[in-house]
Amino acid sequence: MADSNRQLQIAELPTDKLSAEHFRMVEAPIPTPGEGEVLARTLLLSLDPANRAWMQGATYRSALNAGQVMAGFTLGRVIESNDPEFAAGDLVEGDGGWQDYFCLAGKRLNKRAPREPLTHLMSVLGVTGNTAYYGMAGIGKPKAGETILVSAAGGATGSVAGQIAKRAGARVVGVAGGPDKCARVVAELGFDECLDYRGANLFQALKEVCPDGIDVYFDNVGGPVSDAVFDNLADYARIAVCGQISQYNALDPPQGPRNLGVLLRTHSKAEGFLVTQFERQHEIGRARLTGWIKDGRLKYREDIVDGFENAPSAFIGLLRGENFGKRLVKVAE
Ligand code: NDP
Repeated sequence: MADSNRQLQIAELPTDKLSAEHFRMVEAPIPTPGEGEVLARTLLLSLDPANRAWMQGATYRSALNAGQVMAGFTLGRVIESNDPEFAAGDLVEGDGGWQDYFCLAGKRLNKRAPREPLTHLMSVLGVTGNTAYYGMAGIGKPKAGETILVSAAGGATGSVAGQIAKRAGARVVGVAGGPDKCARVVAELGFDECLDYRGANLFQALKEVCPDGIDVYFDNVGGPVSDAVFDNLADYARIAVCGQISQYNALDPPQGPRNLGVLLRTHSKAEGFLVTQFERQHEIGRARLTGWIKDGRLKYREDIVDGFENAPSAFIGLLRGENFGKRLVKVAE
């Protein structure tokens, strides 16, 4: 075991775009677990768009502040445990934060069964895989012959959500940033089409590609993309509001969707959700996703950045759309 704990702390909260200057690396003592606590070595750090939203203010968790260790979801191996539910060597996940070692109350940790490769526990069989599963299968409920639209289609959640709709026999259209990413979404993930939201008029492009309207919208981004999608909804459309990443990196007033009147004209229903509300069913979601990986009909992509010190640049890159699939930081073996 090392003799100190590297931590990436928030040096200053961003007031605009996030940059490397908003973080600082410090060396802290390795914590000693107290009563009921567990000390674990961080193996993988999950980079999630929501981490940026937490820097903007309170969401479904309290706001982050300057001087704190940057918060984030981690997979770790237990080194020492004062909770009888956990033993040295166990794999645990929790809100461990951006640091080499995390010490949390056992009740704030989940034990995970080992899996080869371990990265699956934080990607397709982790939070984003389950988010895609419950958002698409539980809220979107795609049917054969319907047209499904997935934004951030090349990302961790969108890539899986689109394939779940494809399995239901639907026609799946993605929206992603840039022609290269769009080409990969079609060629590697099997979407029927993918439109570049940074390119020409998205509203018009959607009209051409979805002439009968969009039956299910899996919304990962909000903002102007959602405005264009809402104007192309079919009657009785279902919208799974999963995330609003276009709104996380700036403190400007929220941008949209602005045309909510479309919902009443088309008798459509928008439903927001957090994956945590399905926590008791996560094993069911994981079992389904595992089966689909085994039968070769679910492709997953992982975008793994090596080295704890690279977490800030990897996270800033994620917000810019550098990633294809789930972006993780490998901290230790
Ligand atoms: P991704 O792997 O999808 O990465 C984020 C992607 O968002 C980037 O790659 C980028 O792709 C895209 N993006 C960034 N800025 C914009 C923008 N302004 N407009 C459109 N697209 C943009 O991340 P996740 O799969 O982890 O998360 C996707 C969404 O799901 C997020 O909004 C997240 O908060 C949400 N989420 C919700 C959960 C829930 O419980 N409801 C749980 C987990 C995630 P591109 O190159 O296409 O721009």
